Amino acid sequence: MIVRTRFAPSPTGRLHLGHALAAKVAHDLARLHGGEFLLRHEDIDATRVRDEYYAGIEEDLRWLGFAWDGLALRQTTRLAAYAAALEQLRRLGLVYPCFCTRREIEEEVAAMAAAPQGPEGPLYPGTCRGLGMEERQQRLAAGSTHAWRLDAGQAAERSGRLTFTDLRHGTLEVNPGLLGDVILARKDIGTAYHLAVVVDDAFQGITHVTRGEDLLPSTHLHRLLQALLGLPEPVYLHHPLVRDAQGRRLAKRHDALALAALRQAAMLPAAVLAQLADGGINLAPNRAGRHG
Ligand code: GLU
Repeated sequence: MIVRTRFAPSPTGRLHLGHALAAKVAHDLARLHGGEFLLRHEDIDATRVRDEYYAGIEEDLRWLGFAWDGLALRQTTRLAAYAAALEQLRRLGLVYPCFCTRREIEEEVAAMAAAPQGPEGPLYPGTCRGLGMEERQQRLAAGSTHAWRLDAGQAAERSGRLTFTDLRHGTLEVNPGLLGDVILARKDIGTAYHLAVVVDDAFQGITHVTRGEDLLPSTHLHRLLQALLGLPEPVYLHHPLVRDAQGRRLAKRHDALALAALRQAAMLPAAVLAQLADGGINLAPNRAGRHG
């Protein structure tokens, strides 16, 4: 088996130290195994993407010395594939249209005595899951704008028990309801991160998905979607996040840690890479090869 990894930034800004670690883990894991390292621009959110960042990201990666194999994939060229995956789930009766506005959801959650909670706050309370067939059809026929949500309960019933394997955390049981009835297709762009990432990891033949551990909760959902869509199961490696001196995750306020800024300050790429604590991740061949 050939090890194939990917780095999947969104062209909504230049790369910072956190991205450098994500790119390094993906790059090194592939290279250690004589495998392939791919680049994917996750550019579905047209409201935030800016044209100059595609080239900016590629320049930052080259500066670090991380050459990728083949051409970078842009998710905006893949919208038909996401629509087909959504249709597959729709035929299985596992998604439903959601007409709620953000405001309506907030009001409903505020009015609930015990709103269901996810890792990052309240989950969608399931309002549109309960709409009657007739009302749903009427609203669709009237052209009401709507998103599509996963019916997590139905999905779990269909998939049965699932696990995924992470090279740092071991084998974990999937909690299919962890993120609730998530949006798989946004009103404005017709798809969403969770659906697109799963479809493209399969399309690009990614064997090892490496990314920050802030995305560990999402992996429960991704594994569920893979099972429902009949896609192969990759091995995961969730790496620790790069934090600032106060222990905070890197964000916009850390623009000084953008690779372009470090480079302008005459820092050398080797010095940047040396700064990245890799959290004791062992990329040695026997570990990565263990599950595949
Ligand atoms: N575009 C996502 C990010 O930048 C990629 C997440 C992933 O690797 O799945 O966080």
